[in-house]
Amino acid sequence: MKHNQLCYRPTFIEVDLNAIRYNFLQIRKHVGKDTAILVPIKANAYGHGMLETCETLVRSGVDYLGAGTVDEAVFLRRNGFRKIPILMLGSVLRSAVEPIISNNITQTVGDMRLARAVDKSAGKMGKKAKVHIKIDTGMGRIGIWHEDAMGLISKISKLNNVKIEGIFSHFPSADEDSLLTHKQIKDFLSLLQNVNKTGIDIKYRHMANSMAVVDYKSSHMNLIRPGLMVYGLSPRIGAFSDKIHLIPALSLKSKIVFIKDVPPGRKISYGGTHITNSHTRVATIPIGYGDGLNRRLSNKGKVLVRGKRALIIGMVCMDQFMLDISHIDSAKIGDEVVIIGKQNKLSISVEEMAQLSDTIPYEVVCWLDKRIARKYILLKK
Ligand SMILES: *Cc1c(COP(=O)(O)O)cnc(C)c1O
Repeated sequence: MKHNQLCYRPTFIEVDLNAIRYNFLQIRKHVGKDTAILVPIKANAYGHGMLETCETLVRSGVDYLGAGTVDEAVFLRRNGFRKIPILMLGSVLRSAVEPIISNNITQTVGDMRLARAVDKSAGKMGKKAKVHIKIDTGMGRIGIWHEDAMGLISKISKLNNVKIEGIFSHFPSADEDSLLTHKQIKDFLSLLQNVNKTGIDIKYRHMANSMAVVDYKSSHMNLIRPGLMVYGLSPRIGAFSDKIHLIPALSLKSKIVFIKDVPPGRKISYGGTHITNSHTRVATIPIGYGDGLNRRLSNKGKVLVRGKRALIIGMVCMDQFMLDISHIDSAKIGDEVVIIGKQNKLSISVEEMAQLSDTIPYEVVCWLDKRIARKYILLKK
């Protein structure tokens, strides 16, 4: 176990790097060794810690990393990740082009404005900059509409200091709209055919996020971009069950720091949204929305104490929340509280917590603040 910051408080995140490696290798087995794998490590590797996650992935044989911001990409370059290809998944302003090229980061490009800026800067530096062209087949975000893409691709291919290394598109609804998803695949493949006819050779062609990795084989092409599943998570409860076995890598734990007997009729926490209706044992846990624990879990969320589920009562505060432990006689100060993860035979999943807080698993883990120390279970052997 390795800590990456101060941890005098009893609240911490535990990330099992062995699970991340296991999930990555499961995906590798699923798609075969001829499909390259790019893993998005944006937003602190979905809350898991960027450097530790990237080190694990590189050691497991990842082909490409995907950054969400220029700063993330440059941060990786400055922290020892000098060789591994990094794709900056978003678009950037001209002011970011120079650091991108000098740090050997592959840039996503969806118009001539950025393509020309990349060409110009690369020329000045005497480099050939790699880009991936972003095609919009239905996401409605960055990228050129697929119907208009041929002209752009041909123009970029003529720039002297730019190399088109990849071309890609993205799914907005691979987990819920198969009609749209199939249409996107069809449109992208037909564009690729037209590109082929012009003789422009593009090394990487990619579309697949996690959901498409398991559900849309025709979208794999020769590179996939699984994020969520590498961390052992799925877009909703059970989305991957029976399709691929994954292990959630992240647990969130704390300890009881205070216990009090509360008579009936007393209000608990801000706004008094919970009123005790009988004699209640109330425990206080030192983690709150200031750590990224969603306030919507107030009066709803459950956590594990002594192998039993206990209900969050009253509003979640910034640094603390309260728990009804009346049914757990033996509970005492210092007992472990599992907010995400396993305890004895029970577990609380990120997916379950997302559903309760009316959001998606992505947001649950991204919100987990840097204030919470990360502890790592290091790779075995
Ligand atoms: C984040 C991201 C992914 C990964 O999506 P998951 O659903 O986490 O697998 C893939 N492609 C792009 C462009 C992304 O930004």
